[in-house]
Amino acid sequence: MRTLPFDKAKLEEIAATYPTPFHIYDAKAIRANAKRLKKAFSWNKGFREYFAVKACPNPELMKLLKEFDFGSDCSSMAELVLAERVGNTGDKIMFTSNDTPAEEFRKAWELNAIINLDDITHWDYLYEAIPEFGSQVAAQADFRIFCCRYNPGPLKGGNAIIGKPEEAKYGFTREQLFDCYAKMKAAGVKHFGLHTMVASNELDPDYIVDTAKLLFTLVGEIHDQLGIDFEFINIGGGIGIPYKPDQKAMDLEYVGAGIEKAYEELVEKKGMKPIKLFMECGRCITGPYGYLVSRVRHIKNTYRLYAGLDACMSNLMRPALYGAYHEIIVPGKENSGNTSVYDVTGSLCENNDKFAIQRVLPVMERGDLVVICDAGAHGYAMGFQYNGKLRSAELLLEEDGSVRLIRRAETLDDYFATLV
Ligand SMILES: *Cc1c(COP(=O)(O)O)cnc(C)c1O
Repeated sequence: MRTLPFDKAKLEEIAATYPTPFHIYDAKAIRANAKRLKKAFSWNKGFREYFAVKACPNPELMKLLKEFDFGSDCSSMAELVLAERVGNTGDKIMFTSNDTPAEEFRKAWELNAIINLDDITHWDYLYEAIPEFGSQVAAQADFRIFCCRYNPGPLKGGNAIIGKPEEAKYGFTREQLFDCYAKMKAAGVKHFGLHTMVASNELDPDYIVDTAKLLFTLVGEIHDQLGIDFEFINIGGGIGIPYKPDQKAMDLEYVGAGIEKAYEELVEKKGMKPIKLFMECGRCITGPYGYLVSRVRHIKNTYRLYAGLDACMSNLMRPALYGAYHEIIVPGKENSGNTSVYDVTGSLCENNDKFAIQRVLPVMERGDLVVICDAGAHGYAMGFQYNGKLRSAELLLEEDGSVRLIRRAETLDDYFATLV
């Protein structure tokens, strides 16, 4: 059984101030995890994690991660502005977007962000999108950094969530990469990176090590053919977390050591200049340390037994969207045995609004608190207002046990605010 950073009494105390449902994040655990990640890759000078803002776009959490020099991985205007507001600009922003609008390229340029292109046509599009691009790209080559997103296609096996690379809409083919870097070089660009993202919720550490190997090898080939040095490789996000009790967390130290060995062979032995290792994980940074706290509103007994919560899929869409498993704990009943089988539902008028289907849980009653685990990434962030359901509050559990509101719950006024 998983241990929570709060017990029933503490949660009741919190809920007296902030009514359920709410998301709560464990600051102490997020810090410890960030420290561990940095340590696992400390062999690499310049290692940096760019927190994927989309996983949990709360500025207070971004600020907390900034304590560890984490940058921001952004892919939209709102995410760029969030990064700017928490003080991440320049090479602290990785702008990894796709089907990108001109104004987002302009904003990324204005923030001096690292621009990670998703497609070969986007290089020419930059000249259209940013009026000063043509005149500044060479003049500002000392600090401008450009990157291309590689899609290895059939050269890399698939991963369950993200699917086969050749069916993914992202990135350049191998041939296109050579063409684009050549164009960039001809335009005067001096700082280059190479990116790929071929995993999502991946728990096999060798898959991550292999991704780094793939990029180190490719960087070597581009270096040999075009005579350019690479500043960094970015192995993307996608490190998984153990949602299910029988799954094992990613062994970050193993991944760190594995990539270090690959670095020695593919970069150092080859005599290339030092290359920084970047990643842009979201899920494994905050996922396990966020909880959706809800209360049983009704118990219903028909063809099945239902526990109806005051949270619904607009607070956490993953189970409805991809049948994702989230551990459910009923605080205060941890030791009363799992003796009943429930569908745990929300109140949305969609039958897939279920946090769990036929889950064996302790006997529940109206008013019981229910904690849905691993909601710290792609949880609140995926929220929506369908069926007039409003998004809940976000709270931060500080290391001293105090609790801070970091986003208030939506109100009906918010819901009506956009009506003309
Ligand atoms: C979603 C995404 C990430 C983060 O993925 P996680 O699974 O949360 O680690 C990183 N980079 C890009 C480009 C993404 O789309």
